[in-house]
Amino acid sequence: MVAETINIKNKALLKDQCYINGEWMGANDGSSSEVTNPANSERLGSLPNCGADEAILAITAANKAQKIWAKTDAKERSSVLKNLHHLMLENQMDLATIITLEGGKPISESLGEIAYAASFFEWFSEEAKRVYGDLIPGHQYDRRTLVIKQPIGVVGCITPWNFPSAMLARKIAPAIAVGCSVVAKPAPETPFSATAMAYLSELAGVPKGIFNVVTGDAEKIGSAMTSHKDVKKITFTGSTAVGKHLLKASADSVKKVSLELGGHAPFIVFDDANLEAAVEGAVIAKYRNSGQTCVCANRIYVQSSIYDDFSQRFTEKASELVVGNGLDESTQQGPLISENAIEKVSNHIEDAKNSGAIITTGGNPHSLGGLFFEPTVLTGVSDEMLISKEETFGPVAPIFSFETEQEVIERANNTPYGLAAYFYTTDLAKSWRVSEQLDYGMVGLNTGIISTEMAPFGGVKESGIGREGSKYGVDDYLEIKYVSLAGIED
Ligand code: ADP
Repeated sequence: MVAETINIKNKALLKDQCYINGEWMGANDGSSSEVTNPANSERLGSLPNCGADEAILAITAANKAQKIWAKTDAKERSSVLKNLHHLMLENQMDLATIITLEGGKPISESLGEIAYAASFFEWFSEEAKRVYGDLIPGHQYDRRTLVIKQPIGVVGCITPWNFPSAMLARKIAPAIAVGCSVVAKPAPETPFSATAMAYLSELAGVPKGIFNVVTGDAEKIGSAMTSHKDVKKITFTGSTAVGKHLLKASADSVKKVSLELGGHAPFIVFDDANLEAAVEGAVIAKYRNSGQTCVCANRIYVQSSIYDDFSQRFTEKASELVVGNGLDESTQQGPLISENAIEKVSNHIEDAKNSGAIITTGGNPHSLGGLFFEPTVLTGVSDEMLISKEETFGPVAPIFSFETEQEVIERANNTPYGLAAYFYTTDLAKSWRVSEQLDYGMVGLNTGIISTEMAPFGGVKESGIGREGSKYGVDDYLEIKYVSLAGIED
């Protein structure tokens, strides 16, 4: 059941069932799990608590449907995705409201997320028509070598709560574009964004069985996906621990795996930077979604000569952020997702404080209570503190001081993670040098925002495998086949 209190125009978007083979259905045993609003703990509704049986039902349907979908022409797949792009934008306000209710982020950010999610359907509707192969010169005079790309098959897709619409779109759009089918398991905190997308996919003309959404027990559904012979690929966004588990579990049947995992983004400000722009960029990169994104600035390194000036300006901006319910248009920072998140943030602050860091603003749970936390800034932070080693995933900005370019590059790279990094400088040669030396999949140079459907998103080291978005985004859903044509003689 979905709560009557959810105030959106198009109530049809609110689905409280799973979507398997084009049918809306509950769990086999009738059980369900509650979803609550992190801003006020109010019940939003519940969704089926499915397990392995329902996942296998979806995989079987997806496998059957994929064989037919793979034979459709690229223009047909493209036009279905274009429809979905339009439908997402037509329902932008309602879909954004669902995100804010489930996940807590400010409505302005949720509207941005829907635009971002929709952009993947547009982008991959275009890329569907550009899955080019190659013609390679023959290695013998009477031979030609043909390379074709074919859809990999059924894709198991597992997504997190922090971008419940965009992370799903970024995976299903390329899959559907090239002729794959998908069984998706959304995060238990934010399943309504996924079922709303399934509903719109039906209206857009995605055939039954091509996009399935199964909610419920993560471990059971996940292991049904990783162990099933008909699932040819796993795509996952979430924690590094779960990503490693899925990679190991996929090894037995040698599945292709894409992972977008944790980050620990350095944000470096050199003394020749435009300070105003750097402060602005750092605030955006840090406090977006209350600091709960894998590309959030997690370690801010500022060159010593501008350290005090930067820290003062940054603290001022952070302390001005308006905290509140995301549905309130003036809100700039919503609640955190859970008690665990509050605990991790508090631990990082406590540990830093005990080792000598100074809190220049915030530092405590917000007076609004519940899951709200004050935007926090720490100065005098050192590399031994917990916050310099772990991803915080919360609204805490630790500011470190550094002296030289080489030193800061070494410190920035001194982590198992390698997702996003940012730096600010006006020196052209330094821009190249530092960009090339940062061991990260993505670098923001003089910007705190890097996500776009047109660029390859992804990490190196323990931050992941594969790229999403851009012209490279289809590669993970394709197999390469080569055909050797022999006997071409005069
Ligand atoms: P977070 O800590 O941010 O919730 P997780 O990695 O735990 O990150 O969750 C990301 C997604 O992975 C969610 O959809 C979650 O339900 C799912 N998940 C968690 N544990 C498992 C598991 N053992 N197998 C498959 N999926 C899992």
